[in-house]
Amino acid sequence: MILIFQKDATESQIQQALEKITALGYVPHLSRGVLKTIVGVTGDDRSVAELEFDQLPGVEEVVHVLKPFKLASRDFHPEDTRVEIGGLRIGSDTFSLIAGPCSVEDEDQIEAIASYLAQNGLKLIRGGAFKPRSSPYSFQGLGEEGLKILKSAGRRHGLAVVTEVMAAHDVEMVGRYTDMFQVGTRNMQNFALLRALGEIRKPVLLKRSMMGTIEELLLSAEYIMKAGNTDIVLCERGIRTFETATRNTLDIAAIPVCKRWSHLPVIVDPSHSMGDWHYVPSASLAALAAGADGIIIEIHPRPEAAKSDGKQSLTLENFQRLFVKLQQLGEVLGVRVQ
Ligand code: PEP
Ligand code: MN
Repeated sequence: MILIFQKDATESQIQQALEKITALGYVPHLSRGVLKTIVGVTGDDRSVAELEFDQLPGVEEVVHVLKPFKLASRDFHPEDTRVEIGGLRIGSDTFSLIAGPCSVEDEDQIEAIASYLAQNGLKLIRGGAFKPRSSPYSFQGLGEEGLKILKSAGRRHGLAVVTEVMAAHDVEMVGRYTDMFQVGTRNMQNFALLRALGEIRKPVLLKRSMMGTIEELLLSAEYIMKAGNTDIVLCERGIRTFETATRNTLDIAAIPVCKRWSHLPVIVDPSHSMGDWHYVPSASLAALAAGADGIIIEIHPRPEAAKSDGKQSLTLENFQRLFVKLQQLGEVLGVRVQ
């Protein structure tokens, strides 16, 4: 952190700031220029609010040098983190596919998808049993019954399960069925939920809030990590902008920014970002080209009959075509699609 003093700051105001810095346990480094005096503060001062200092008499501006997150930051952990799930490692040099329906609807639907994924050597199935929806009057999922269907299909076909948990009080129950917890866009700042997920030892897929900044996403990841769980995969799922042609706007820039700021794996949700299956293959290929570590994608044997998000779900045939293209692009980039 750097404090910049006003041109006419008095010596006693400068001394007052230096005393405060020292009292908080940091080391001040004073530098007097012709016009302005500044003081550099060393020590991990990320938890110090700027308010503490910019309200002091004589202080013009306070500039933080370090990012406000630490455990999630690449500065403190330069190597890429890899998150293990279902015998796979999500992280650099691989591109992991998490595919499945928006909602678990019935056994036949999940069986069709699970057997298809297993036949193609894929390892991760998604499916929502607790569904946050744009309208609370829409289908909200089968609840625990849906989790049972997912888990038993996963067992039969050797697939690991990724499913959403919406509330802290459900973490223990959902944890009996899932291999990875998904935190949805509407819950990125549900701190009670994040705290509960920090206390367990299972990976978390943390989606970016549709109106959250990248820094806020990393602060939420930090909060889970601080509570003890460091197995986190970040997910860019599209943000709200003025554009209405797509359901959300896929922020491709979030991939290189997250990768630079953080060591955590980053995946993309092309389905919720685009909202229309026609655009999903392009978004998926763009994610791979931009350096993402995978995608979470909605597929359905009969999208036209889906109980939720049919419009953005790929048929198994369309997913197959995309899978081939991803493998071709992966080969060029030296990334294994898994
Ligand atoms: C989902 O993955 O089914 C979902 C509801 O996603 P999001 O939280 O990104 O809207
Ligand atoms: Mn969905």
